[in-house]
Amino acid sequence: MSHVAVMARFLLALMLVAPALARADYMDHFASRDDVGPRKVPALGDVTVLLMPVEVKGFPPIDRAKLERFFSPDDEAGFVRYFEVSSLGRYRPRVVVGPTISYEQCPLPAAQFPGCRVRRGDINAFSAGIDLLREAVRRTDEAGVDFTQFDRSGRAGQPDRWADGVMLLTNVPFGGIAFPIGFFNRGDNLAGQSGGALVADGVRIPHVAVAGDTDVHVMVHEFGHLLGLTDLYDEAGKYAGLHLSFMGSWAYDPKIVLPDAETRYRLRWANVLQAQGTQRYRLEPVETSGQVLRIGVGDEYFLVENRGPGRFDQALPVRGLAVFHVDRAVASVTAQGRFPKLGAKEGDFVNRLLDCVNCDAWHPYIRLVQADGEFDVEADRPFQPDADLFRDGDRFLNDPSNTVRSASSPINGSNLYSGQPSGFALDDVRVREDGSIDVTITAPAEGQCGDPLCADGEGCAPIACGPPPVKSGCQSAPGLGLVALLFLEQGLRRRQRR
Ligand SMILES: [Zn+2]
Repeated sequence: MSHVAVMARFLLALMLVAPALARADYMDHFASRDDVGPRKVPALGDVTVLLMPVEVKGFPPIDRAKLERFFSPDDEAGFVRYFEVSSLGRYRPRVVVGPTISYEQCPLPAAQFPGCRVRRGDINAFSAGIDLLREAVRRTDEAGVDFTQFDRSGRAGQPDRWADGVMLLTNVPFGGIAFPIGFFNRGDNLAGQSGGALVADGVRIPHVAVAGDTDVHVMVHEFGHLLGLTDLYDEAGKYAGLHLSFMGSWAYDPKIVLPDAETRYRLRWANVLQAQGTQRYRLEPVETSGQVLRIGVGDEYFLVENRGPGRFDQALPVRGLAVFHVDRAVASVTAQGRFPKLGAKEGDFVNRLLDCVNCDAWHPYIRLVQADGEFDVEADRPFQPDADLFRDGDRFLNDPSNTVRSASSPINGSNLYSGQPSGFALDDVRVREDGSIDVTITAPAEGQCGDPLCADGEGCAPIACGPPPVKSGCQSAPGLGLVALLFLEQGLRRRQRR
């Protein structure tokens, strides 16, 4: 319901005339984070974001009271609480609902948009849409809204003259899109110049999240794109895409789905436990603990989290472990060669519309491993939480045949996409009365503790790696012996070198 694949071809044509810039891209699922400001909104700290309601006469009127409630912190199942809970309170947005922008009649050309209906994939919407967004910002500014309040944070947590998030919600029939207007605008920027981001009160607006039919839940998803997230459902509809993710197969109903573990990890909203060796874990519900267990390092790894009904995720009837197989090296292979799908090159989002990162059910960017091994999701059958989450007695082990998993070889092993063993085993799951889940995890025995997500700051490094160090005096003796051996060996080597 969000992006317009048919439009992608047209976007691609536009790309050819767009300047080639070696900057990072918009909604690349954090292949890069260096571009918070021009390409993404900050996902940490206190921000104030703007919602512009656009109401066209002749369509169901916007209920402002209802709107203001959903976007206020008072709604425990609303926009603000969703992002606060999902981020463990690390991201604290507040929303200003701007003055309603009213139109007596459809602001889009009637000949192209009969009934003001924007059909999915309608390329005419493109230039008309740019004009409408520009007009909405201009009218909001003219109504006296101070845009400097929408720049409280940036890449370094300080105001940076880039807006922290702008949304447009309209009552006309339209799905939703997150539109990088700064990339496509060739006209007035509202500050006396041509092209690029719109500017109001000196604050630049590079992209806008748009939702139609006054659908506030679609807006939650579209806002995810401003945070740098890409679509994780299958636009082509071969299967539903990623379950357990608000960027995935969520039906935009009021039971908002939490972020999947990879999204949480990338946004630095997780408390990552990096596994090394074999250990028994007690994982608390991720909604309140942020605990994400990571097995493996580099581009391909597994993430495990405890999911179940809470304030969000209400659609889940049971609690269990969600296991995700992540491969950030997913690529498109074409006649021209091999292209990474998670490119950070500006404009690459167009390729992600044409060939989305999660569209190959058997080898997507993020795959939900299903406990029952029936591969229902891959075959476009329903996701069944009680059978697909890992619950009492379920296990996930290496497949010794090292077969590459595919529709013709549906083997539910913990092997990598190459078929080689990953070193990951999950066994002896116990879902406890209090909602925590015990599980025994095996990961590679060494080399797992030196792969932080970023240099410094909350959410960058794992909060723990491998089993805790042995504390008692007696048991540390073998450790001392090992250190002595190392010294001895170094002494020997030095002697040999001489
Ligand atoms: Zn989307």
